[in-house]
Amino acid sequence: AERYGIDEWGAGYFSADKHGHMVVIDPENPDSPRVSLLTVMEGLRERGLEPPVLLRIENILDHRIKVINEAFTRAMKDGGYLNRYRGVFPIKVNQQRHVIEEIARAGSAYNHGFEAGSKAELLIAMASLESHESPIICNGFKDAEFIQLGLYARKLGIDCFFVVENPTEARIIIEQSRALDIKPLIGVRVKLSTRVDGHWQEDSGDRSIFGLSTARLLEVVDLLKEADMLDCLKLLHAHIGSQIPNIMNVRAGVAEACRYYVDLVREGAPMGHMDMGGGLAVDYDGSQSNWTHSMNYKLDEYCADIVDTILEVLNPLDIAHPELITESGRATVAYSSVLLFNILDVTDSNPLPDSSMDAEAPASDSAAADSTESTVSDLNEDPQILRLREVRDSVCPDNLQECFNDANFYREEMRDRFRRGTSTLRAMAMADNTYLQIIERIREELPNVARVPAVLQDLSESTSDIYYGNFSIFQSLPDTWAIEQVFPVLPIHRLNEEPTRTAFIADITCDSDGKIDHFADPSGQSRTLPLHEVRKGEDYFLGVFLVGAYQETLGDLHNLFGDTNVASIRITADGAVQYERELHGDTIADVLSYVEYQPATLLESFRHVAERAVRSGHLTVAERRTIVKSFTESLGGYTYYENI
Ligand code: PLP
Repeated sequence: AERYGIDEWGAGYFSADKHGHMVVIDPENPDSPRVSLLTVMEGLRERGLEPPVLLRIENILDHRIKVINEAFTRAMKDGGYLNRYRGVFPIKVNQQRHVIEEIARAGSAYNHGFEAGSKAELLIAMASLESHESPIICNGFKDAEFIQLGLYARKLGIDCFFVVENPTEARIIIEQSRALDIKPLIGVRVKLSTRVDGHWQEDSGDRSIFGLSTARLLEVVDLLKEADMLDCLKLLHAHIGSQIPNIMNVRAGVAEACRYYVDLVREGAPMGHMDMGGGLAVDYDGSQSNWTHSMNYKLDEYCADIVDTILEVLNPLDIAHPELITESGRATVAYSSVLLFNILDVTDSNPLPDSSMDAEAPASDSAAADSTESTVSDLNEDPQILRLREVRDSVCPDNLQECFNDANFYREEMRDRFRRGTSTLRAMAMADNTYLQIIERIREELPNVARVPAVLQDLSESTSDIYYGNFSIFQSLPDTWAIEQVFPVLPIHRLNEEPTRTAFIADITCDSDGKIDHFADPSGQSRTLPLHEVRKGEDYFLGVFLVGAYQETLGDLHNLFGDTNVASIRITADGAVQYERELHGDTIADVLSYVEYQPATLLESFRHVAERAVRSGHLTVAERRTIVKSFTESLGGYTYYENI
């Protein structure tokens, strides 16, 4: 289990038990029995939910909301901050109803609200909040209808803020609030010049597409003054980026935001709220560093740094402490979801014994015969094969690098001959196999050398296996493909066995990008993952962890692989598993309808095609009936690989 760094990235929610199973720990009852993910997977199968399954663990989600709220409250108390914290969850990070409902339920104790970036998200927020004191923050482009909806939320007594991104929006807010006679709560989003490390550098700085420039900010302030509505300007919004790996950026961003706050107070706005957006990172690789997929700080430090920075700027100026809002998305939901899938097949790089390659070579074909070089028909006389065998038989601790270089040279020569038509497919296969034998021999000798040459250090990368997983990267892990996001990936069982294979993972789409070949590794990033040999007739399950943020929402229908099955579980105080909700994934008929095919019409067309085949004598009527039945059943089936 140590090799997968579970303790480093698991944040206390995951571990391995003595049976080698990956287990979930109920954060509220860490000493109660732990829940094996393999047992959960078996329980899901018994309920008819086949892999791939997205598993949500409600206890973890509840705990995240609790720890974020409590950490801010603690930091405020420790620092002498005289106001409160209210968090909001950005709906775009995971819009699934079950997730939103759970956040609303668990968040009501802390008046945790929602952030909405569109009309659709605002409707979700308005209908979901369980506490009247939970705020709604409206970001993004807002038309008159969006603003009317937000004003009605105000009328219901909800603290619904419009965060103004441009002067046009301010004009619409002024117009609509007058028309409906409802006083709005207005915020302004500023464009900070603080640059952040990591992937989302451009969320802030001059190239950010969000927020008001200084000139436009003043235009909005003047518009509100003219409309006699400056008393509605009550919030400053600044979002410096998502997944901020470096705490120094947080301090700098908050300090800059405070300067805007101070000057807006000086302009005469009542203010009173400061929203620092999202950005609280998740340590996906467990390295606790300022590398893109990690973070060099803890939650408590993040909260204390925001609170202390505000105090440092505002106290000397005698400005009242604003209510503090943050919009943590990733840090709220990432931990609570795990993608579970089975391995369907493995392409390994094990060399075969020479005896199994020794089939008779066919006579050279005419293309080769025409060429100036001749094809050697007896493989045992082929010069490249002979050289490669010599190299293989000479491998010893003193010449590993030389053998590796020679192996590459002679294999390349063979490939060259094949391209020119002077060697056969069988000869090349024999050369490739001898090459793998050499690599295997070199690998065996590596422990016997004092210093492994650099070129041999990533030997396992160049000859790694391919494990084919029953899932689609594009549907379930889109950030793996889009931004090379690293997620912890590991088997959920057999963790007490030494993994003997080195692999990367391919999905079942027909796309060369459909693979996971970046892995969290305690010593940095790795292109391969240690895995176990798949045993015949036995399932081998992998889990991809920390996938609750962004992945479900951004996923798409590449190759028409649809939504996976989804299940939510809750761990009871005595460590039992309750299967709370289950959602069967898309059927083939569902995904076809997303691309405008009506399943009934498609079936009708197919019946015609089958009838034509009967007429032309390709099918009997009875055969037609069997095939049409199979077609019909497929329409109702899962889009992923099924064992039928
Ligand atoms: N708020 C705003 C305005 C955002 O654009 C984002 C994401 O980029 C978030 C909040 C959520 O950020 P995170 O998931 O890093 O907490």
